[in-house]
Amino acid sequence: MDLQYDAKKVEKLAQEYWNQHKTFEVDENNPGDKFYCLCMFPYPSGNIHMGHVRNYSIGDAIVRYQKMLGKNVLQPMGWDAFGLPAENAAIKNKTHPAKWTYKNIANMKKQLQAMGYGYDWSRELATCDPNYYKWEQWLFLRLYEKGLAYKKNSVVNWDPVDKTVLANEQVINGRGWRSDALVEKKEISQWFLKITEYADELLAELDGMTGWPEQVRTMQKNWIGKSTGAKINFGIVNSQNTIEVFTTRADTLFGCTYIALAPDHEFAKQAAKQDNKINAFLEKCKLSSTAEADFSTAEKEGIETNIKAVNPLTGDLLPVWIANYILSSYGTGAIMAVPAHDERDYQFAKKYNLPIKQIIEYSNETQMSIKDGPLTNRGVLINSSKYNGLTSEIAAQEIVNDLKILGSGSKSISYRLRDWGVSRQRYWGAPIPIIYCHNCDIVPVPDKDLPVVLPDNFEFSDNPKVLETLPEFYNVKCPKCGNDAVRETDTFDTFFESSWYYARFACRDQENSMLDKRVDYWAPIDLYIGGIEHAILHLLYARFFHKIMRDVGILKSNEPFARLFTQGMVLKDGSKMSKSKGNVVDPQDYIDKYGSDTLRLFIMFSAPPELSLEWSDTGVEAAHRFIKKLWLIVKKHVDCGIVTEKNIPGNLNSIQMDLRRKLHETLAKVTDNMESRFAFNTVIAAIMELLNAYNKFNIQSQTDKIISQEVMDTVVLMLSPIIPHVSHTLWQSLGHKKAIVNELWPTVDKKALLKETMEMSVQIDGKLRASLEVPSNADRNTIETEVLLLEKIKKHLTNKSVKKIIIVPGKLVNIVSV
Ligand SMILES: [Zn+2]
Repeated sequence: MDLQYDAKKVEKLAQEYWNQHKTFEVDENNPGDKFYCLCMFPYPSGNIHMGHVRNYSIGDAIVRYQKMLGKNVLQPMGWDAFGLPAENAAIKNKTHPAKWTYKNIANMKKQLQAMGYGYDWSRELATCDPNYYKWEQWLFLRLYEKGLAYKKNSVVNWDPVDKTVLANEQVINGRGWRSDALVEKKEISQWFLKITEYADELLAELDGMTGWPEQVRTMQKNWIGKSTGAKINFGIVNSQNTIEVFTTRADTLFGCTYIALAPDHEFAKQAAKQDNKINAFLEKCKLSSTAEADFSTAEKEGIETNIKAVNPLTGDLLPVWIANYILSSYGTGAIMAVPAHDERDYQFAKKYNLPIKQIIEYSNETQMSIKDGPLTNRGVLINSSKYNGLTSEIAAQEIVNDLKILGSGSKSISYRLRDWGVSRQRYWGAPIPIIYCHNCDIVPVPDKDLPVVLPDNFEFSDNPKVLETLPEFYNVKCPKCGNDAVRETDTFDTFFESSWYYARFACRDQENSMLDKRVDYWAPIDLYIGGIEHAILHLLYARFFHKIMRDVGILKSNEPFARLFTQGMVLKDGSKMSKSKGNVVDPQDYIDKYGSDTLRLFIMFSAPPELSLEWSDTGVEAAHRFIKKLWLIVKKHVDCGIVTEKNIPGNLNSIQMDLRRKLHETLAKVTDNMESRFAFNTVIAAIMELLNAYNKFNIQSQTDKIISQEVMDTVVLMLSPIIPHVSHTLWQSLGHKKAIVNELWPTVDKKALLKETMEMSVQIDGKLRASLEVPSNADRNTIETEVLLLEKIKKHLTNKSVKKIIIVPGKLVNIVSV
């Protein structure tokens, strides 16, 4: 054993061992229960960052622990390789996005390998590989056949800098998430996936998903936003048309004082054609974002039309307004405004002097009046004719029933979730497999012609719509009629690729189908680890894709991720590391200087994994010192002589018993944390405390040596998921032939946990049959229970029953049988 810890030497040895023995390459026929652990795959930006190191070190520790439990463990890795940064970097560096991307992948792979993560590299995939995106093109065509993929004109968030459509979630405070440019509205024709068709299932299953953080489940619930209510039709004076509104408060129908339309509601557009002021207002609305967060905070603005609507129950004539706070995509894009009982309607009515009519009574406790603000709680109805005196709940039911009889309304459910617009007007993405023909309109690319490969043999420039400039790409013959036709030149949103990669890892080498039966062995994923920022979009889309893959018949489970863990961020000087702040710490520098075990140890020790971690160079140095110290402690034991004897003698002195108790208490605590809570910081602290106790232990006798060996073995086993390289070498130095990565996790010796124990003879009808070891303070009940659990006693009591048990304290138990 070397005198000192040499990180470079140790890490090279361990990594060579894992590579040569293909330690982390698994197949479905390996023994043991399966455990599929996946960390969210990286975007190949060029270098791994500390966020990756944290995410992947947590995943790797869990994987190595689960492997030590004897499970068949899969941990794959790949590259989320499409996306805008590649195009921007290619323009900047005068290269091609593919070239830039593959170069980055090669570099980052080297870095991940230097960290020694236990990946099954035989399953590595990059989403920009035609062999990968071929299958999502295939899936898209199945969705098109089912009517779950469709094309429509829609108003989109347009990022004028990146020249692309943004999803609402990619608009932050009215600006593009990447470019930070003010987002505009634009109407274009786009492909959509009907995620709303699955809204109910996506929502209903969240309740049973107890392996997910409560916070994430709540975020998804809110995002799907199910509201139960009613659709009500308001007639229009001098017209056959009606305005349909959706409301969750049918009980407030008598308090409606105006109707409000979304700016892109059909009637609003019609009104704009006859009125310049209205037209100008609609144009102004187009400049604001469609993101909901901005909706709630924006100043309420509106304009009155010359349309008059009729309340179907009261016959009241109501003015019809166009208002910027109405979302065209929620409900019907029109609302019945009840200012007395709705916050936004109240603000709007105050601003434009519209009537406010109270129809819910204040309870006795509240001294408020409607002048102070809207009363948004449910209550008892007033000013509502025959519904007066009813509670909101009952009134809503009766009003909807009466509207139904009149043919003016019905119960309805509305979702906040909208269909997923997947078209992107960019080059670096998977081509959408559609052809447009003058004769045949929309024609899907036949399966046999997949993949539609993204062309790469041209000079890449800053033209955002590259594919439109490549006739050799877009000119095709129509697969149906053979006439000249053109390809779709939009590409898929990159969330498309990340929605199913976890499933492809199960059968990455399958050339004939998107998935095969191996996915039913590995799915659902036992543990998925990534940042909380993916709580909604990525995780919701992946759940949606899992269900559509199930319904297309290529996998069986309902949900992709049984358990989800969201790790915290890595901060420097209290803020997120970013190039613009100049506070980025490069993992490579630390791997080079201290080795990857030090980096892993620091990351895992410095904070509970779900919380933010503050970067600290002194913390890194302390982690490095700990490993060096551990090396010396093991060396001291080894120099004393390795012991192969595993049986702990029975007659220990109190010092020996204390150390063993400490050891097994630590092991119990560590096991619990590795199993479920993932509090690695606690794990490491407990092991450090154990080593402090061990350092006070003097090795004098052979029994001391046996115990010392037990402590050293167990410590190294417990640390091996966290600092696997040094553990690999230390394990060999401790005299073991088998590599530590293939060893089993140690088990807690429950006897060692007992404080003082005593031995009692156990007799049946006066004959000595067994002996019993119990804590010296064990009470009568404990002794009776323990005695009857002894195998020898059970055997002798077959076909007999116990009449009574006599206990002579500290000495003897006699069972009297009949
Ligand atoms: Zn055709």
